[in-house]
Amino acid sequence: MDYELIVLGGGSAGYAAASTATGRGVKTALIDNSDRLGGLCILRGCMPSKTLIETANRLRDIRRCGDYAIALDGRASVDMAALQERRATLVEEFREDRVDGLKDGDFDLLRGQACFTDEGRLKFTERDSGSSRVLQFGYALIATGSHPNVPDIPGLEGTPYWVSENALEAKQLPEHLIVIGGGAIGCEMACCFEGLGAKVTVLNRSRTLLSNLPESASRRFGEEAAKRGIDFRYETESKSVHYRDGQFKVTVEDAEGHEEQLSASHLLLATGRNPNTDSLELDQGNVLTEDGRILADGTGRTSNDRIYAAGDCVKGPSIVHRAVLAGEQAARNIHAKLRGHSDSHVEVDLDPSITAVFSEPELIHIGPSSIDSSWLKKTFDLADSGKAIIQGKQNGQLELFLEPGSKTIKAATGVGRGVIDYSQAVVLAIRAEMTLEQFLSVPHYHPTMSEAWTYFESA
Ligand SMILES: Cc1cc2nc3c(=O)[nH]c(=O)nc-3n(C[C@H](O)[C@H](O)[C@H](O)COP(=O)(O)OP(=O)(O)OC[C@H]3O[C@@H](n4cnc5c(N)ncnc54)[C@H](O)[C@@H]3O)c2cc1C
Repeated sequence: MDYELIVLGGGSAGYAAASTATGRGVKTALIDNSDRLGGLCILRGCMPSKTLIETANRLRDIRRCGDYAIALDGRASVDMAALQERRATLVEEFREDRVDGLKDGDFDLLRGQACFTDEGRLKFTERDSGSSRVLQFGYALIATGSHPNVPDIPGLEGTPYWVSENALEAKQLPEHLIVIGGGAIGCEMACCFEGLGAKVTVLNRSRTLLSNLPESASRRFGEEAAKRGIDFRYETESKSVHYRDGQFKVTVEDAEGHEEQLSASHLLLATGRNPNTDSLELDQGNVLTEDGRILADGTGRTSNDRIYAAGDCVKGPSIVHRAVLAGEQAARNIHAKLRGHSDSHVEVDLDPSITAVFSEPELIHIGPSSIDSSWLKKTFDLADSGKAIIQGKQNGQLELFLEPGSKTIKAATGVGRGVIDYSQAVVLAIRAEMTLEQFLSVPHYHPTMSEAWTYFESA
């Protein structure tokens, strides 16, 4: 055997898995095929998007500076070149940290492509030399991530459309951006570019935005964002795309079958992501997939006992904390199996589930995605929070869902600027199965936004 564990992919999931395994003395190699190490979150996902969103939010506040008794001579606007310089600098700092971890780790870092040749071996093709060799593994962990899905819309191919990574590297502010897709990335990017000063239209196929969040929250978000001028088109199908002389023309059809042609300077596709599994020869490794995503159980194990998987290439939500926790747990299970320990089937603990969108206003949902109809719902409007009023963050709401009788907090949903950051205590409360009364008895400093989560009647 060449390695006790071979990890495929050096992003959030793969790096967490390799570090955890080597920390336990497992002889490990990590294979990554990218030209630029770092992973999606750092290079083209969470960190660059939040950098642009930070500027968009600050610009919003500056436009309203009169509300805070600040006089401003002239008009505030974004300097896209400086913003891109800031993004590139920050991403490079985060990347250096990850690359140091990958290069200085106690595992062998192999740069190149891997694919399975059978259930216990894979072929590694070195990136620089192109030479290949077969590596035998005790266990393998697939963490190869995902890439943007490009829908099959007539006329789209060959046009200079954007996917999220192009939007994040935009050199100029679009005059008018059409976003196809009203999911998390679509809504984040729509609010970001609207905040930076672009006109934005969102084409959403279904009746609601952000279909994995409770409707009351996504509706409130849509209303607030529409007040600022984002044009949301619901139940709208994008039928065809035409590009000429720097203008996109998108033909759309509404629920009644009416067609309309929309023009815009830029077009962003935010229509989901597909797993990077095509080139892995998963059949050879006897690893089953559904729609290309790897099927893995809670321990990380796939249909092959010796192959585990974690992160975006696995069926389920594509978010970083899930990728990291699943990668770490899979590595612990593999270590336990290698050393003959009995605790080799421990499931990753992702309870409660958290979904968040860094839009304006932000959204967070904690707990099961479908709300049990028997749960009691309590709502608090942030317009009644003193701190929210002082900060100008009153456009939002908090909701708690309680089990009838015991009043145990089962789920919570928040809409409002900064709500993702000030909801972590609710995550703990749900995990600890606290009743509302127990949660309300926890000291919360006044006046804070976290305190707003305690403005619920216990009765
Ligand atoms: C615009 C955007 C914003 C986002 N914002 C957030 C956010 O705010 N919060 C959040 O939780 N999540 C966010 N996400 C999602 C998050 O970035 C991903 O869930 C996470 O980065 C996935 O990590 P991963 O390890 O599965 O994959 P990756 O980080 O993509 O790592 C996969 C690695 O495997 C390598 N690889 C691929 N194929 C092979 C092969 N055959 N052989 C060897 N190596 C291979 C790739 O080169 C890559 O380095 C965002 C995503 C996007 C696109």
